[in-house]
Amino acid sequence: MKTETIQLAGDVPGYSIELRVLRFEGKDGQAPAAYLQSSLHGSELPGQAALHFLIPMLETAAKEGRIAGNITIVPQANPVGSAQWMAHQHLGRFEFFSSVNFNRSFPLLETFDTSSLPTLDAPKSLAERLKAQLLRLALPHEIVLDLHCDDESENYLYIHQAFLPEMYDLASALGSTAILSWDSTADAAFEEACAHPVLQLPEAQQKSRAVTTVEFRGLSDVNINTGKADAEGLYKFLVHRGVIADQGVTLKVDFNGLVTPLENVEMIRAPQGGMVLFHVDIGAEVEAGAKLVTVVTIPGDPAGDITLTAPQSGRILTRRGHRYTRRGDDLMKLLGSKRSENAKPGSLES
Ligand SMILES: [Zn+2]
Repeated sequence: MKTETIQLAGDVPGYSIELRVLRFEGKDGQAPAAYLQSSLHGSELPGQAALHFLIPMLETAAKEGRIAGNITIVPQANPVGSAQWMAHQHLGRFEFFSSVNFNRSFPLLETFDTSSLPTLDAPKSLAERLKAQLLRLALPHEIVLDLHCDDESENYLYIHQAFLPEMYDLASALGSTAILSWDSTADAAFEEACAHPVLQLPEAQQKSRAVTTVEFRGLSDVNINTGKADAEGLYKFLVHRGVIADQGVTLKVDFNGLVTPLENVEMIRAPQGGMVLFHVDIGAEVEAGAKLVTVVTIPGDPAGDITLTAPQSGRILTRRGHRYTRRGDDLMKLLGSKRSENAKPGSLES
């Protein structure tokens, strides 16, 4: 394993960040290459836990000469977001200066030529240069896994329709409950930026690729056991795809979870601010009209309670982690079987 440290100067004198990049060189030029990163949203750590346990497994495979395709890993993809704390709270989703989500506004390239991207010392903000650098690192790989998590959540994947059903292997390896399938968004997440040049290729060449955002459960699901299990899932997938050779590992592709287009996801939003009392947990199957969540607007007076019900039957995929909400804020994702009346183009959340 080779460790590379990429320095990015900050936007003011005296400040810089380091991006730590781990590389395993493959022995087989025909084998697919894989890129894995975690914590693009600075405080999302389940993927970092998975990589923490995966990297020693890859080092063993490297010692035994079993790395077939190149593997690049960036365990902490966003040192800017990781360093954003305010009043003892970590705030790693939006950049403090611009309020832009760290996983939006990536450059969309038509080809794999990255020469038009801002260089490390371009006269661009650190966030823009960091995004360009992550894209430069990822694009030479056929497999790109961007490891995130939700607030309180089941384990699920975002996958472009072009990579389905081939990517059921990843969902099987990770034990995912659901796949949220998309065909276009307007927000240019990292996943979309990595998929964009692939989608310009002839269809037959797209099928061997794998580009995804992995949502490894919720923010607090950072544990030794889940980290190890997730590392094993990632390892199994990499073996299945031929990136690593390991005769002792086989993957049964038996994913039978939900595949839900983004427009079928019901985003349950708070009509007013207040205290949040959930009626159902993640993983619950609910009927249309079932009580989902009550927003208490006048504590002590039931007349102020606003109870939101399921717009259609489906499965509760996620809940917000906080229990005090603002008007209009997201509270839950429900996976429906038909288009949501509130469906809008673009990502589900800001
Ligand atoms: Zn995220």
